[in-house]
Amino acid sequence: MRPESLFPLFAPVTSLAGVGPRIAALIERVAGARVANLLWHLPTGLIDRRYTPLIAEARAGAVATLTVTVDRHLVPRNRRQPYKVLCFDETGSIALVFFHARSEYLLRILPVGETRIVSGTIEYFGREVQMTHPDHVGTAGESQKLAAVESVYALTAGLSLRVLGKVIGEAVARAPDLPEWIEPHTLARAGWKTWREALIEAHAPEDEAALDPLAPARLRLAYDELLANQLALALVRAHTRRVPGRRIDGDGRLRARVREALSFPLTRSQEATQAEIAADQKSEHRMLRLLQGDVGSGKTVVALLAMLNAVETGAQAALMAPTEILARQHLATITPLAEAAGIETVLLTGREKGRNRERVLAKLASGDAALAIGTHALFQDDVAFRDLAVAVVDEQHRFGVHQRLHLAQKGGGADLLVMTATPIPRTLMLTAYGDIDVSRLTEKPAGRRPVETRAMPIQRLDAVVSAISRALADGAKVYWVCPLVEESEALDVAAAQERYQHLEQLFGARVGLVHGRMKAAEKDAVMAAFADGPVDVLVATTVIEVGIDVVSATIMVVEHAERFGLAQLHQLRGRVGRADKPSSCLLLYAPPLTQAARARLNILRETEDGFRIAEEDLRLRGAGELLGTRQSGVPEFTMADLAVHADILSIARDDARMIVESDAGLEGPRGRSLRVLLYLFERDAAVRFLRSG
Ligand code: ADP
Ligand code: MG
Repeated sequence: MRPESLFPLFAPVTSLAGVGPRIAALIERVAGARVANLLWHLPTGLIDRRYTPLIAEARAGAVATLTVTVDRHLVPRNRRQPYKVLCFDETGSIALVFFHARSEYLLRILPVGETRIVSGTIEYFGREVQMTHPDHVGTAGESQKLAAVESVYALTAGLSLRVLGKVIGEAVARAPDLPEWIEPHTLARAGWKTWREALIEAHAPEDEAALDPLAPARLRLAYDELLANQLALALVRAHTRRVPGRRIDGDGRLRARVREALSFPLTRSQEATQAEIAADQKSEHRMLRLLQGDVGSGKTVVALLAMLNAVETGAQAALMAPTEILARQHLATITPLAEAAGIETVLLTGREKGRNRERVLAKLASGDAALAIGTHALFQDDVAFRDLAVAVVDEQHRFGVHQRLHLAQKGGGADLLVMTATPIPRTLMLTAYGDIDVSRLTEKPAGRRPVETRAMPIQRLDAVVSAISRALADGAKVYWVCPLVEESEALDVAAAQERYQHLEQLFGARVGLVHGRMKAAEKDAVMAAFADGPVDVLVATTVIEVGIDVVSATIMVVEHAERFGLAQLHQLRGRVGRADKPSSCLLLYAPPLTQAARARLNILRETEDGFRIAEEDLRLRGAGELLGTRQSGVPEFTMADLAVHADILSIARDDARMIVESDAGLEGPRGRSLRVLLYLFERDAAVRFLRSG
């Protein structure tokens, strides 16, 4: 249960004074729906209103806060003229200028003869001093409040700084004192204030230096965010480890047969990683390991060997893929190999229904099927294994951390191997997986050829189409990926359909189309026709997993490549370059390119090294904006910025490790504070692990 002290922060923003549904919707767009989201919405700049000159001294262009007496209102004769309010002090006069003003309102806030504080930008119009639409108008008593530093926040159309600033001020005022969760030494060494003090300070920067992400108040808040993340991951890991693992150490007979059945020798990288995994399986700890390797680096075989190791001991193994198509593809790869080893493999996805499903469930329960391949349907409540010893999750950057937590819970004492094709930089890896063991496939199987990558404007479509036409005459297979239209699968599909019709007119039945809205059976049929059938050009949206493996494909065309992230383009390109013929990747873009988009396309032309591409991606756009971020399961932070906060991330990791070693149940006094931290950052799932622990 969320602690009561946090209730006010988790109330909707409409619980703040002056926030109705209309403002709330705008706030939700920039920050979030809850009061806490406003706390995390830190200033991006400031306006210094402490300059309080007399009128005659006021510098043009400066933001100034003046104390003036209202002289008279000059009501315009027509709508085009501005409304002016003339004011003065002992040194001179100033005209406050308003367009489209309501005189009734202005007479109320600037009554003739009264003293008022006005704050805004000083302008000179000829000899006349002016201030157009003052940002603030207040009474003499408010001078202290107005002549201050004002925080500037990221806004959205319809939401003014005045409104948002006020609402955030209220949210911050609501922040309770929370018990300290940072270890006293760390706190003292860094010279950090309490959470509440840091929050107040971060929202009230006195100067530019206070806006630096390394300024103490901001650093502390970023640390808190990272600590919550690292602690949650560390708790999950501790939980996985607490369930006693089992020693899996097969005799190698099935693996030997599979190796014989393979038409190729394993790469050195595959040998090394499978040995690491086997050693981990042999230990009595429960395995929690990430197998990281670029698209096409051959992860499946490595996973199969790990699964067979378990099967050799009489246990079962499961492989879960993110999509149905990928599950079927794994099945197609693995079944013949498993047959060579004399074991039965079953498939379980959302499409196995009725009798068929019952038959599969029975085989899993009896242990007749040693290997199960499927989607998350494999881990539904009514699926029981006789003796599951290892679960492999092919993440293909689709699953989030949550599914992973769920799986860790479900799998009982089974070893867990997560495969990912996203080459994540070290810092991001830490935030996505915590302190997980990692095996890396660093080399590609022999016979891989470099892919020639070219970028060209969409205007050259005709030239591209004729090149494709020539390649088709030579027997090529072509992927044609259509643009991702933001937030609209329907538009995605329409774009793909249009391109399909266009190409079909030229190449007839050799063109196929797959998209996310098709029925699974239809998709399968098209995919099969592309893999070894009459279809040679496959038009696809990215909604459908392009992680399919068609070795003979040699051309990848990506339309509107400028809309894709580097990682995504790299993944797409990885689908070609496996055949014995040279391959190419054509990145079609719609000019003009932004500088960032141009840089992305250039990097792709320069390198095929996934790790380098990932680092460049992080450098170019910052962790928070990595387009692949959401897909790769890397959490997004609001206050921490991994590009600048890598140091405190490792401190947070060490801290989390120590906490879990000394008080894994979070029962001690600091442990209780840390529970509050987890709730504050909505890591409730991790807290549940404590109880079930
Ligand atoms: P990924 O790492 O993307 O999952 P896969 O496991 O799907 O890669 O392997 C991609 C292709 O490479 C498959 O067709 C597979 O049979 C082949 N392959 C795997 N290992 C080797 C190897 N050592 N030598 C040659 N081909 C290999
Ligand atoms: Mg794969």
